[in-house]
Amino acid sequence: MATPSSPCSSYGGTMFNRNDYAIQWNREHPDEHRKHCRDWARRHPVENRKRSSEWQKGNPDKARCRLQAWRDANRDKKREQDRRRLTKKRGANGSHTLDDFKVLCQLFRGRCVKCLKVKPLTRDHIVPISKGGTDNIDNIQPMCQSCNSSKSDNTADYRLIAQRLRIR
Ligand SMILES: [Zn+2]
Repeated sequence: MATPSSPCSSYGGTMFNRNDYAIQWNREHPDEHRKHCRDWARRHPVENRKRSSEWQKGNPDKARCRLQAWRDANRDKKREQDRRRLTKKRGANGSHTLDDFKVLCQLFRGRCVKCLKVKPLTRDHIVPISKGGTDNIDNIQPMCQSCNSSKSDNTADYRLIAQRLRIR
């Protein structure tokens, strides 16, 4: 990961020298410091890569930790990318974002539209993609894994039933 080994090493001495004041400033302004680092890395891609690979060699344990932390933070994003790619591949038109789906789940108070239990929710395409359904949010209902599996290819819209039962 492109993170410098110490607070000010990425400024290359142009903005601050690597002195106590700079280190203190970085500590007090973590967001600005991060932004400066990112800007610097963008302007110096070759040197940045070199520095960060040197840093990784010198700090293998820390590097592994940071990579893992980055992966954890981006797991949702990665899973979402994979899902979208797969849906496209299956021939679906339209798309929606993870946020769209989260909002939809909140609308149903985190409940499965079929069994109405609060469970981890998956997306169910009301009109299956295999039958020409889109991946747009208006063709999605939140369903738990077991209801989703047992639903197979029927096109029942459980959202109305769930709403009638005042799961809103
Ligand atoms: Zn269910």
